[in-house]
Amino acid sequence: QENISGIRVVKSFVQEPYEIEAFWKACKNSMDKSMHLIKVQGALFPLIQFLSATSLVISLIYGGILVINGSISLGDFVAFNTYLVSVVWPIAAVGWVINALQRGSASMARINEVLAQQPDIVDSPEVKPVRHLEGAVEFRNVYFNYDDDNYQELNDISFSMGPGDTLGIIGRTGSGKSTIVRVLLRLYDFASGEVLLDGLDIRKVPLAVIREETGYVPQDGFLFSTTIRDNIAFGRLEASDEEIIEAAKLAKVWEDISEFPEGLDTVVGERGITLSGGQQQRIAIARALLKDPALLILDDSLSAVDADTEREILKNLREFRSGRSTLIISHRVSAVQDADLILVMDKGRIIERGRHNELTARKGFYHHLYEQQLLQEQLA
Ligand code: ATP
Ligand code: MG
Repeated sequence: QENISGIRVVKSFVQEPYEIEAFWKACKNSMDKSMHLIKVQGALFPLIQFLSATSLVISLIYGGILVINGSISLGDFVAFNTYLVSVVWPIAAVGWVINALQRGSASMARINEVLAQQPDIVDSPEVKPVRHLEGAVEFRNVYFNYDDDNYQELNDISFSMGPGDTLGIIGRTGSGKSTIVRVLLRLYDFASGEVLLDGLDIRKVPLAVIREETGYVPQDGFLFSTTIRDNIAFGRLEASDEEIIEAAKLAKVWEDISEFPEGLDTVVGERGITLSGGQQQRIAIARALLKDPALLILDDSLSAVDADTEREILKNLREFRSGRSTLIISHRVSAVQDADLILVMDKGRIIERGRHNELTARKGFYHHLYEQQLLQEQLA
């Protein structure tokens, strides 16, 4: 399965022979085991039949002698043989059932391992009957690490955004930007501190509400191997075509879609492999926009679009989403510079914060990034 979805990587690294070899080994292993099983079965079933037939022969010969000698009557003999014949198959059937039970319980154990998994994060008994979120987010001294080691992926994170605000997060790769979002969506629980949604402890907000009220565009913008329509309407299956097209227009991907011969009915390959990286990203954005969420989260979702398209999408977001919160994560200053608050992250900490003007005036890391970007634009 990975070889097919990753076929371009396999080909571009000329790893076909190696992958074929690996696949062949796996198949060979499976075939050898099947052959072994079939050999055992092939030997066993004739053996059982042979034994039952032999017992019949023995009873015929020995019983016949007894009848001739007059030790038992002909009636006893016939009755005995009839019982014997009618008992052979039920006994064989019991064998079959035991066999099937054993195979079943081996498979069952493996299936149950998956089915019996309990999610680590579930609604606590103290959840409040919240139905709707306004999109206000507050972090107070939040600490978090993934593997209980000493490295803090989030180290004393505090910030707040009111409903309708735009928050920008920028920083080096691996600095903890996506981790903030994962904590915010309760995909992971934080170690200490407080996370508040609309002023309410996040642990008291039902999980379903948190996730329904947020539109999350993950960094890898996962697409399903179905039509573009179904991919965009994933969060709202009842959406009309007009609404889907509207969302696609806001995400600046409608022009691309309308040029496909099948339009919205275009089936995208596995994980969207038949689309360009920028098209995949924008379809993932359209999917989140269609939900019209109280809080929209774009995790580096504009990285594969050019500067002009990025500007237009951000402009659309500002117009269409006025009054609703947006959280934008990016490596590029251009994506966050209009935000109400910009956090600059490094190694799990917020090292600078403020608006664009304040940050550029401070001549720190943000300023450095900004100068690089200006230089790049000038070169371009
Ligand atoms: P990027 O800009 O590359 O997306 P990021 O700022 O979003 O980076 P995070 O994904 O938040 O970075 O990761 C922060 C740190 O946490 C990294 O050092 C990363 O190795 C680690 N990390 C991320 N996800 C996991 C995970 N599931 N388990 C363990 N460690 C993780
Ligand atoms: Mg990330």
